[in-house]
Amino acid sequence: MVGLVSALIRFDTSNTGELETTRGEREAAEWVAAQLEEVGYETTYVESGAPGRGNVFARLAGADRSRGALLLHGHLDVVPAEPADWSVHPFSGAVADGYVWGRGAIDMKDMVGMMLALARRFKRGGVVPPRDLVFAFLADEEAGGKYGSQWLVDNRPDLFEGISEAVGEVGGFSLTVPRPDGTERRLYVVETAEKGLAWMRLTATARPGHGSFLHEDNAVTLLADAVSRLGNHTFPLVVTDSVAEFLRAVGDETGLDFDPRSPDIEGMLAKLGSISRIVGATLRDTANPTMLKAGYKANVIPQTAEAVVDCRVLPGRQAAFEREVDELLGPHVRREWITRLDSYETTFDGDLVDAMNAAVLAHDPNGRTVPYMLSGGTDAKAFARIGIRCFGFAPLQLPPDLDFAALFHGVDERVPVDALKFGTDVLEHFLLHC
Ligand SMILES: [Zn+2]
Repeated sequence: MVGLVSALIRFDTSNTGELETTRGEREAAEWVAAQLEEVGYETTYVESGAPGRGNVFARLAGADRSRGALLLHGHLDVVPAEPADWSVHPFSGAVADGYVWGRGAIDMKDMVGMMLALARRFKRGGVVPPRDLVFAFLADEEAGGKYGSQWLVDNRPDLFEGISEAVGEVGGFSLTVPRPDGTERRLYVVETAEKGLAWMRLTATARPGHGSFLHEDNAVTLLADAVSRLGNHTFPLVVTDSVAEFLRAVGDETGLDFDPRSPDIEGMLAKLGSISRIVGATLRDTANPTMLKAGYKANVIPQTAEAVVDCRVLPGRQAAFEREVDELLGPHVRREWITRLDSYETTFDGDLVDAMNAAVLAHDPNGRTVPYMLSGGTDAKAFARIGIRCFGFAPLQLPPDLDFAALFHGVDERVPVDALKFGTDVLEHFLLHC
């Protein structure tokens, strides 16, 4: 399985967000298909909306075919990496110092490797899982899935027929917290919710003119004012169910006051270290200006000025968020959505959650699963849109001092070999009892 993860990393599947420069997905998908076919799977290869955007699907029949299938999804693309910044080449897949190194090591060729290893092990061993398993290896997650999951859901619904639940990335990893008696507890955070992702274009239109004259009605000034108001705004604190449950569990274990109603909940969170950067971003909506565009000459006042704002909106907040944004923008700035992917939230209960719990406990008696919300987006957004109940559960047992959050899209991305072995065992246990 470590070899599979290394091999996957050696495919440079950098997703630049542009069709012309994104590469490697087809080659990686064909290789994955070959690994599956070698052990007897029939695979379906699909290109999602543009040449080279390769996806692979395979199904393993379960004992009770009347039950809804479980989808296991992993994306093959990665964000780009600049080799000069790294200690090892980002596409080497090197195994050294107990880690597998490279772009995608935790996002998410680790999980893809585990899925592939188990798919092969099950087929070879004639294993029949309790229900159908659908393995999906996908393109374009890192650019929102327009040429991946979102396209597949819209154009190939047949691929998802009979699937009721799904498990994917950014959950299942351990977070070690101190207990009052001096011991530690490993919390395995399961993603049960995602904030919405909404990229917004702002346009101010006003009177063009000569840069040397008196001129009150300037599009650049109007836009800059609005961008500044929005960028400096703090949206209200809203503790959703997933976040409240996470905070209560952390409070339980640490003996510290993580009362979701506490006004200083953000101060408390900061004490948790790395994870606070992930959870902290799920307490409020955010709107971060990221791009500006205006003008073409120093002495010409342009007619329009544009900005792009990256908005992340909590479940249930979209309408209230838009009202708040409109008030901040004022009458002179128009807004439109470039990309809008809705939030989702599911409850942390039921048979599948019990199976995750049991799988973790079977391999880590000191573990406890807790739900949490992701501030970012994954392919789960597309699957939730067609009624599939989604979780992030790509199990890894991490060293307590590893700054896991910093490794996502970071330099020297790497995954502990032991964490991969642990994760594969947990995932196997889970799939045999799902
Ligand atoms: Zn990812």
